[in-house]
Amino acid sequence: MSSKALPVILHSNTPLPLFSDYHMHPQGHRVQRYTQELLQAWADSARSLGLQDIAFTDHDRYHAGIDFDEIDRLRERNPGLQIRAGIELDNDPVHSSAGREWIERNWDKLDFVLGSVHFLERADQMFDSVPDGAAQFEGRNIDEMYVDYFRRLRELVATGLIDSLAHLDLIKIHGHRPTTSIRKLVNETLEFIRARNLAIELSTAGWRKPVKELYPSHSIIELAMEKGIPFTTASDAHSHAQLGENFANLARKMADIGIRQVCIFEKHKRAEVLLQL
Ligand SMILES: [Zn+2]
Ligand SMILES: [Zn+2]
Repeated sequence: MSSKALPVILHSNTPLPLFSDYHMHPQGHRVQRYTQELLQAWADSARSLGLQDIAFTDHDRYHAGIDFDEIDRLRERNPGLQIRAGIELDNDPVHSSAGREWIERNWDKLDFVLGSVHFLERADQMFDSVPDGAAQFEGRNIDEMYVDYFRRLRELVATGLIDSLAHLDLIKIHGHRPTTSIRKLVNETLEFIRARNLAIELSTAGWRKPVKELYPSHSIIELAMEKGIPFTTASDAHSHAQLGENFANLARKMADIGIRQVCIFEKHKRAEVLLQL
């Protein structure tokens, strides 16, 4: 089920420096059946921003709302837009075994699977809930929490169901920083990701969270680049109004750091696209 690289494609007529958003939640945080009413607003928002390629990636615990026929209908109604059927699989100790089964069953209909760690020791609360999740860090050994977080990330990668890792250093969301270098920890996690030929995302969501920083950090991006790990671009929008949020800033950052291409997925097959940054 691993992704294979396709030849490089050049988008010749890109109106914006970034053209793809591969992380968004049409259902928000509850089951909402996919309908044209629910989805068309996202396509409209994408078009108004000049986005040409988007992936719906609702949380796996809301998989009951996903309707592939409705996605097909949306594609027919929006011929100028690439619309990918995706999902965000996380490590929810309650729901994600059902989520994994659903993904395996629907693998051939899905273009793209994001992998995320949202749960640490508490099974009933995502640690990245703002502000409530911050309580999970109170009085704790932050270094150990980082070790635990990246261990869970490698476990998720090992499922073999992931195409790209979401918000790789989400553990920093509330601003808790390790007291020692995490370079070795990050390095072994990125090696794990590279060995399985997966991508990681550049997510602007961190800029609207308490940490106010891109996911992942500059040093993690550089390490990933050294290893040749490709990137998807992402807003993690929970409303169509958040689509492509801060993409101008992300494009500048990517130009500064020397990222010249992003990847897209079709039926889990990856293609690299050169950017005009
Ligand atoms: Zn997430
Ligand atoms: Zn998400």
